[in-house]
Amino acid sequence: MIRNKQVIPDGDVLVGTPAVPGVALGPVIRAAARVRPDMSDRTVPESERAGEAEAFRAAAATVAARLRARAANATGAASEVLAANAALAADRGWLATAEQAIGTGTPAPAAAIAASERFAGMLTKLGGVLAERVTDLRDICDRVVAELLGAPEPGIPVPERPSILVADDLAPADTAGLDPALVIAIVTALGGPTSHTAIIARQLNIPCVVAVPGAAGLTAGTEVLVDGGTGEIRVAPDPERAAAALAAHRDTAARSAAWTGPGRTADGRPIEVLANVQDGAGARAAAATPAAGIGLFRTELCFLDREAEPSVAEQAGVYREVLDAYPGRKVVLRTLDAGSDKPLRFAGHPDEANPALGVRGLRIALRESGILDRQLDAIAEAARGRTPVPWVMAPMVATPAEAEWFAGKVRERGLVPGVMIEVPSAALAATAILRHVDFLSIGTNDLTQYTMAADRMSAELAALTDPWQPPVLGLIGRTALAGRVREKPVGVCGEAAADPLLACVLVGLGVTSLSAAAGAVAAVGAALAGVTAKDCERAAAAASTAEDPQGARTAARAALGY
Ligand code: PEP
Ligand code: MG
Repeated sequence: MIRNKQVIPDGDVLVGTPAVPGVALGPVIRAAARVRPDMSDRTVPESERAGEAEAFRAAAATVAARLRARAANATGAASEVLAANAALAADRGWLATAEQAIGTGTPAPAAAIAASERFAGMLTKLGGVLAERVTDLRDICDRVVAELLGAPEPGIPVPERPSILVADDLAPADTAGLDPALVIAIVTALGGPTSHTAIIARQLNIPCVVAVPGAAGLTAGTEVLVDGGTGEIRVAPDPERAAAALAAHRDTAARSAAWTGPGRTADGRPIEVLANVQDGAGARAAAATPAAGIGLFRTELCFLDREAEPSVAEQAGVYREVLDAYPGRKVVLRTLDAGSDKPLRFAGHPDEANPALGVRGLRIALRESGILDRQLDAIAEAARGRTPVPWVMAPMVATPAEAEWFAGKVRERGLVPGVMIEVPSAALAATAILRHVDFLSIGTNDLTQYTMAADRMSAELAALTDPWQPPVLGLIGRTALAGRVREKPVGVCGEAAADPLLACVLVGLGVTSLSAAAGAVAAVGAALAGVTAKDCERAAAAASTAEDPQGARTAARAALGY
């Protein structure tokens, strides 16, 4: 629930964590919270049960009809998701189970909840794609319960004109129907820059600010100016100021749209600007952007739904699809990063009290290397006869010895070895690690999580899991320095590389490549093209010596003359 609800006076400015840059002006719409009444001790008298069942059927039919109408107005994947959810609201099994409970005296809202939980349990046991329907089923149930109680429909209302969506946080189901033409910015009270909301907003290129204290006070209909680059939300802004901010944003957007690469600063320092992908389709989409290659292929995301390890031949086919999207270009594959927030059923990681600090990433292979060996065989098979030879890196490396062990396996197969720098110990030991591998790639999402000792999935800790934290910048600078000492490339492939302002700071810290979501590539390339290497170095020095992320952003902006 949103806390500290207090209406905010006109002209006030709220400041949160910037997640996706861009400027938007419009009225607030609010995602309503779900209602869960406590009806545990209520029994519907026998004489009223038929009416209760009738009200339940009517509520479910209304919800289904509403979703069908939205499906008809949406396109593509969003339309399919909404149509599938409408069908779920009319599912006979679910309706009958709830009606049966109503027949024994359970109030309709409680019966709907019990029926959906029963089906959720069954779907979870079946696993795979069916288990993924659980969120949708609960979403339908929430809508039916709200309808029964006469409460506002939970989730995102469909605005009549372009609006700014304000919520506690957004569920994956909420984002399915999001139309960037109507939802022109997102503001959340919770969630970090690497949260689900931020990742979806980045994909859709919707300006987004997360972890905004006081967001609860933004009431529906209030006009606000959102700046996803600075994290500022101005309430009822001065019209002249708003017009100037929108015009400046249009200029930046036009420069990004015109940027075609190659990546370099205004004075010609080359910086590779690459894309992060998770499968062949993503790689083909990235190839349509100015991204010069792939800087991070998250291979584990291809196999999240698998019970059993895919064969070497099947894996080779998947990897080949990605390599084929970028013929003759650089592609960096990351070996399976299983565990913690990305469990792979076939990886056999143990149950642990603290999985983020447990056996994940390369640590699984260090216990038993069969899965890694077979994956490297598959990569070598996919790469046969290809130039340049793909680069292969390991996640969650903590020591030079681990890097050496991994590099041996990669070199045996004629591939180019590297490691991700995600653990502070690896950043501190980067010079030693570079004795064994040919490149480093800094995973700022995990490096921030481990440096700040703050779970990257925790909405409560968003202000800590901010890659602008000066100690994180310090470790990035130290890693980049190791690259200069060993004359080997050091890139960044975490979400930090998608922030155009931070990208300039990272270049100033000495990184040689940036890899970001394909949608962010042009904005990053255009930002670098507008500044000199010296500007970047000044911004890096100023940001690294700030006391907090907000101070670092302000200092970097000032140094770059933004
Ligand atoms: C990172 O940690 O920054 C990274 C790129 O890896 P992932 O987000 O997949 O953990
Ligand atoms: Mg990581």
